[in-house]
Amino acid sequence: ACKHKGGDCISFFDQELGIRVNRRNQMLKNMRLAFRTGEFTVHYQPIIDANTDRVKGYEALLRWTTRKGETISPAEFVPIMEETGMIHMIGAWVIQQAGRDFNQLRRAGALDQHCWMSVNISPMQLQDPGFVNRVANVVAEQKLLPGNIHLEITESSLIEKTQFTMQTLGALRSLGCHLSLDDFGVGYSSMNYLKELPVDTLKIDQSFVRSFNDANESDLAILRAMISLAHNLGKAVVAEGVETIEAATFLKQKRCEYLQGFLYAKPMALQQLLDFTLKTNQVKCG
Ligand code: C2E
Ligand code: MG
Ligand code: MG
Ligand code: MG
Repeated sequence: ACKHKGGDCISFFDQELGIRVNRRNQMLKNMRLAFRTGEFTVHYQPIIDANTDRVKGYEALLRWTTRKGETISPAEFVPIMEETGMIHMIGAWVIQQAGRDFNQLRRAGALDQHCWMSVNISPMQLQDPGFVNRVANVVAEQKLLPGNIHLEITESSLIEKTQFTMQTLGALRSLGCHLSLDDFGVGYSSMNYLKELPVDTLKIDQSFVRSFNDANESDLAILRAMISLAHNLGKAVVAEGVETIEAATFLKQKRCEYLQGFLYAKPMALQQLLDFTLKTNQVKCG
């Protein structure tokens, strides 16, 4: 079709690319404005101690609700923030909000000892020379213990294992922060590689847990193996996507330490989170 004659000839490939770039630029412009006008918020999902059924931690999750009330999934906008570098600014903001809100929870007397706030970190943030200081500043400003902050990283952050990324992870650990490997099981880890990961906790991806009630013998075998692998490596396990009592019962039997999922609570705003935590921990106290 395209004969490279006239100046008005655009190949199909260029057109596709052009549309993609346009959509991305439009989205980026929207996101910047949305951030300035307060359309982004941070919600928190409780993480339950499997031994006590009490709230032990929280995961901070970004939310985007437009003025028209439309919600856009982080699965859609986080990759664009990463592509455009906006994740550096937003990521720093999320850590700050999460630290501040964790402090609020503490001041309300809602927390057990050794509770934590987990924050998702993009691979790019680990390449940022200012990142460790930013975390340390939030800890200091809110008078937290570094161990109150868990940083969730994915295998893709580590796949290149650049010297700088490994240094950053080392510095975060020296500071006293905990590191969790998010989405465990859907990445690329070889067993060999897993043994060297500088993480304290493995979070089993929700895809292994959500469908528990339809699981067959092989699915269960995989779930069991993932939990024992983590334990044999000396790491604690958080199961994500716990939606049924059956799943929770199985995971407790297998000594999975922490449970996170809609069976217990969905991600929620700070005020609801306070109520949920007080209610859950009070009842269990007796
Ligand atoms: P993730 O870190 O694996 O977070 C867990 C996701 O599972 C959340 O989705 C949560 O709402 C969902 N979830 C938890 N329990 C259940 C359950 O029982 N059933 C079902 N169906 N889903 C459950 P969400 O909030 O849509 O976030 C998606 C992903 O976006 C996150 O996956 C994370 O990778 C990314 N993300 C969210 N907030 C941030 C952020 O502040 N920074 C970065 N870098 N990534 C973020
Ligand atoms: Mg996460
Ligand atoms: Mg994640
Ligand atoms: Mg996950």
